Amino acid sequence: MRKVTIVGGGQAGMQLAIGLRQKSYEVRVVSNRTPDDIRIGKVLSSQCMFDDALQSERDLGINFWERECPNVDGIGVILPAPDGSGKALDWAYRLDEPAQAVDQRVKIPGWMHHFETIGGELVIREAAVKDLERYSRDSDLVIVASGKGDIGRLFERDPARSPFDKPARALALTYLTGMTPYQPFSRVSFNLVPGIGEYFVFPALTTAGACEIMVFEGVPGGPMDCWDDVRTPDQHLARSKEILQKFMPWEAERCRHVALTDANGILAGRLTPTVRKPVGQLPSGAFVLGMADAVVLNDPITGQGSNNAAKSVRIYLKSILDHGDRSFDRAWMQRTFDIYWDYAQWVTGWTNALLMPPPPHVVKILVAAQNTPRIGRAFVNGFDDPRTFFPWLADPAEAERFIAQE
Ligand SMILES: Cc1cc2nc3c(=O)[nH]c(=O)nc-3n(C[C@H](O)[C@H](O)[C@H](O)COP(=O)(O)OP(=O)(O)OC[C@H]3O[C@@H](n4cnc5c(N)ncnc54)[C@H](O)[C@@H]3O)c2cc1C
Repeated sequence: MRKVTIVGGGQAGMQLAIGLRQKSYEVRVVSNRTPDDIRIGKVLSSQCMFDDALQSERDLGINFWERECPNVDGIGVILPAPDGSGKALDWAYRLDEPAQAVDQRVKIPGWMHHFETIGGELVIREAAVKDLERYSRDSDLVIVASGKGDIGRLFERDPARSPFDKPARALALTYLTGMTPYQPFSRVSFNLVPGIGEYFVFPALTTAGACEIMVFEGVPGGPMDCWDDVRTPDQHLARSKEILQKFMPWEAERCRHVALTDANGILAGRLTPTVRKPVGQLPSGAFVLGMADAVVLNDPITGQGSNNAAKSVRIYLKSILDHGDRSFDRAWMQRTFDIYWDYAQWVTGWTNALLMPPPPHVVKILVAAQNTPRIGRAFVNGFDDPRTFFPWLADPAEAERFIAQE
């Protein structure tokens, strides 16, 4: 029986581990957090996932919360008027299939438990390079799916694919109950405030049931980069409401009766979007393969990280199974990642573009979407497969052609 060790039990690591275990591989997952640490710990993501990524979970039969989790039926875009007089743009369209966000504090402990019941080995440990050496000796393959964990630094940063060398946004999350729902359909309400940042909010499932998740993306040094002096959950909630009141009063209006889901339903931080070389070499000469955020870390502005992780599972799983009994050498590792990068490059390109001020042709597309459902629907459903944004979102001439189509 082939043995695979996966360092990091998050969206990518646990999903891949379960997929391999279902095919009778011997699988060890090394996690630096116990299921309880995760369940009662702080939120780390808003984890909204679109249909194709959700399908990758359904394919493995691990969509355990699909019935309980509220659906996100569409996406809306709101652009405040520059003079503060209201909205310059406000439209929303339905997704072809709903999205869902299951709190990782619910999902990951649930998957860990399932993994153990189907014979997987869960080791609780902060893996260091010396552990990777040991795992590489007793396993046919070692995969590092450690997200933003420091051990990911063993993979060399790829400067050609990493245009940022510092965080492009100050991030914050606020999990709430009691928000007035959007009508006539639930949605990710995506507010773009030029020069200040972005705010998006959508329904989700958390440890205590249904909730709404606020995501703040503040331009560094601007008025939405305002979390450093926040000390308590109540202050975090108050700051969240202040931002809305100031820049998006229509969103503040929905929040008159909100309360935090729990004291850990908050987060503030920042990350530097970074793509790394996918194959890491240990001091002994052994190779390990990086996966998901460990090697392709995007800003959450487009809500794609968990989607990418789930889609990478499909690719890595197939590549491992197709390789049969052959050795998982460096060339196989690079090839496996390259198949993933064929997809992920479009997500990274789109996400990095959104961190910059929108060029005129993108503004034109957003304006055209207001009265042209074909354009709005294409934009909205692009979140499920960002490859479909190209070439029209990146190229002014293609944008003109796209807008002019019948
Ligand atoms: C503010 C914010 C909002 C987001 N919103 C969305 C969204 O709406 N939609 C979306 O798709 N994505 C979103 N994301 C991104 C998404 O959460 C991640 O991309 C996704 O979780 C990545 O999965 P992963 O398996 O690569 O890493 P993770 O889920 O981070 O899992 C890695 C695991 O490895 C563990 N680990 C790390 N180092 C070690 C070690 N040395 N030894 C053992 N274990 C280790 C970690 O504790 C963690 O459990 C958001 C991210 C942020 C920061």
